[in-house]
Amino acid sequence: MLWALNGTAPMTLPEPHALSTLLVHAGREDFDALGVHAPPIDLSSTYPVRDLAAGTASFDALVAGAARAENPIYARLHNPTVARVEQAMARLEGADAAVAFASGMAALTAVLLAAKARGGHVLAVRPLYGTADHLLASGLLGIETEFVEAGAIAARRRPDTALVLIETPANPTLDLVDIDAVVAAAGPVPVLVDSTFATPVLQRPIARGARYVLHSATKFLGGHGDVVAGIVACGEAEATALRSIRAATGALLHPLAAFLLHRGLPTLALRVERAQANAGVLARRLAEHPAVTRCCYPGLGTVRNAHLLGTQLAGPGSLLAFELAGGHAAAAAVMRAVRLCTPAVSLGSVDTLIQHPAGLTHRVLAGDEQRRHGITPGLMRLSVGIEDVEDLWRDLKAALQSIPFSR
Ligand SMILES: *Cc1c(COP(=O)(O)O)cnc(C)c1O
Repeated sequence: MLWALNGTAPMTLPEPHALSTLLVHAGREDFDALGVHAPPIDLSSTYPVRDLAAGTASFDALVAGAARAENPIYARLHNPTVARVEQAMARLEGADAAVAFASGMAALTAVLLAAKARGGHVLAVRPLYGTADHLLASGLLGIETEFVEAGAIAARRRPDTALVLIETPANPTLDLVDIDAVVAAAGPVPVLVDSTFATPVLQRPIARGARYVLHSATKFLGGHGDVVAGIVACGEAEATALRSIRAATGALLHPLAAFLLHRGLPTLALRVERAQANAGVLARRLAEHPAVTRCCYPGLGTVRNAHLLGTQLAGPGSLLAFELAGGHAAAAAVMRAVRLCTPAVSLGSVDTLIQHPAGLTHRVLAGDEQRRHGITPGLMRLSVGIEDVEDLWRDLKAALQSIPFSR
């Protein structure tokens, strides 16, 4: 039985491996014992319990947040297909464990609920992903969030501060936040790094003292525009709390989505490297284009804390933001004009996506908050894909020339 093997096999690779090897092999450690070459998809919603005493023990363990038990009991408590991609992500982030959720927002919600149980005051550094900002600012979860500059964390820490939350590179301006400095300022308070833009290929926050690493796996980890998922890598104690919350709230990753996520991981480094090479070329050309007044890209040094490139952040990545002289109307015209680039929200897909943060992803921020964090009416965010870079440039150049404000 698959679950029995999965529950008892030592799920670790025998020795340390380079990231590119882990991307291909992590979470697949039980394949040999199973006699398979691809992850089995277990779609069971429930599992037979023949031995009631053993079933009760498994139930108790899973509800309390155990990573696995002899019997999965019920799909809201455990799923072996999901557990494999969790194991892979833990290895990739250098963490004890990882916990997968139905989306990035479900993952963040679980971390915030865990923080609420520990005190309920959260310090967060803007800019953040628009919906994350909205969830924190709305008070919906009964958490008190204080938005602070990274430099003010130590001064604003309180006895009931349960979490410090940062996003680096930040969405949509690509500003970088110094993880080492934030971890030092947070002291005993756990730090969560939303590392969605970086992926484990470019950044490893756990090694810098972060307690949680969050990914919207919808983006680079899935990578093909067909999965919505969230994942948190963290220590075993934190993971136990998150699994217990997930069992209670039900924000599960479906095994088919987990399979697709796991399916995409082996090519993650290749995708990130190719998209990053394309982005470097496009960033330089956009910065020089007469319709563009600024181009934010870590590789151009045009973002906050760009000096962290090469240390904290191994490469500049494939996201960039650029400001159009023609403002909102010019951005709307570009959305209409692109043919090869997809005018859509989301990012980290194999295809190039372009969108308007003020009108879409960061719409939920108040206008003055948008402006204060550089989300201007003419700002566009480009998530560069793995297409041929000259084809992409031709499309972007034509779109920029079509706008009424081009010179
Ligand atoms: C998309 C995104 C999220 C939210 O993830 P979903 O999977 O859409 O719920 C959180 N943080 C960042 C940086 C994102 O880009």
